[in-house]
Amino acid sequence: MSKVFVKPNDKKRQYSRVQHLSAIETPVWLALMAKAYGNSVIVDMEAENLNEMGLLLRMKDITVDEVVLLATGSHPSAHIQQSEAADRLRKAVEAVYDVPVRVENRLLFDPTQMGTIPYDRLPLARYRAHNWHAWGRKDYSYGATFSSISCPFKCDFCCVKDFYHSDYRRRDPRLVLEDIRTLVANGITNIKMMDELFALEHKDTHAVCELLAAEGLGEVINIWAYARIDTVNKELLEMLRRAGVRWLAYGIESGNEAIRAGAMKGRFTNDHVRSVIKMTKDADISIVGNYMFGFWDDTPATMRETLDLAKSLNCEYSNFYCMSVYPGSKLYDDMKARGVDLPLTSEEFAQMSPHFKPVPTKAVSGREVMAFRDQAFNEYFRDPGYLAMMVSRFGRQVAGEIERMTSIEIR
Ligand code: SF4
Repeated sequence: MSKVFVKPNDKKRQYSRVQHLSAIETPVWLALMAKAYGNSVIVDMEAENLNEMGLLLRMKDITVDEVVLLATGSHPSAHIQQSEAADRLRKAVEAVYDVPVRVENRLLFDPTQMGTIPYDRLPLARYRAHNWHAWGRKDYSYGATFSSISCPFKCDFCCVKDFYHSDYRRRDPRLVLEDIRTLVANGITNIKMMDELFALEHKDTHAVCELLAAEGLGEVINIWAYARIDTVNKELLEMLRRAGVRWLAYGIESGNEAIRAGAMKGRFTNDHVRSVIKMTKDADISIVGNYMFGFWDDTPATMRETLDLAKSLNCEYSNFYCMSVYPGSKLYDDMKARGVDLPLTSEEFAQMSPHFKPVPTKAVSGREVMAFRDQAFNEYFRDPGYLAMMVSRFGRQVAGEIERMTSIEIR
């Protein structure tokens, strides 16, 4: 008898027409959950491109005593989006097999205490990096590891602590090194450092970087990780680069300083943003700038300030999101108290789904926020100054890929 640990496949619903540009993420939490049980099988429906029927057929040959569906991705927000897919799957399995099915949508164990990630139990060759992460590289190989869980900060719109059931906790840096050695030995060099915040002054972040650089892995690997404008400095950025961190994602969120300060702990000005972006570029690290439209105080003028800041920073990639209001965040409680009609279903939460339900601000409807987001995407990625920068950084081929990306019509 064995337990079957399943990652549901909801990619088509979540990403609609842009699913081929999104990553296929390594299900690290699922692998660690399964590790606790000697006799267990992992079925990653997304990586194996299985539908409901595909899962039922796979289970035919396994003697099962329990099925565990993990309704989450590598990021906490994914658990909201995937919970419906997991529930549909639970009903389908229960209709065919007489076996208990459990849906987990929170981490109910401490992954920092589970040792190395059992990559040998995953279909490693099937994971795929984000399009931008692989720019300038030879392949889309992809793997993930982590050095910490949860986050030392507390931003109003964020629900990470709710997902992890935990405050900030670190993992032994030697385990991270061990994981990356295994990934590289399997031919995987594009790596996601899953930490909610990896780039910060912490002795264990330093230790991870020093271990990777000392082994020469920094020359080989292409890590992307999250950073904050107020947690990096020149020396740290240079150390990260030596360790193979070639992409950092910053939450810049708004171009309006008052709006940003109202939502995030840790206050930084636009001048501070500009100087850190320059410092990061000087360290030869590419940047993903993350921006949000639809803060409660946003107006058409402040959303334009955000887009203008993004264009002036000219990062190698920019994500433009509508505000997401997730249960478990302070923002969710605030919006409920204001009587805002909030998304309920997973598709209403999915930013790229035709059924996405954007939330309004006090001055702008949700529909207008979403229209501005789509306009921002096109204006940013079609900007001649941006495309010229990308040609000089990654070559003409990547600029052509970006042109193809902006030609996709989002419903
Ligand atoms: S820094 Fe990022 S992960 Fe941490 S609380 Fe803020 S939004 Fe969440």
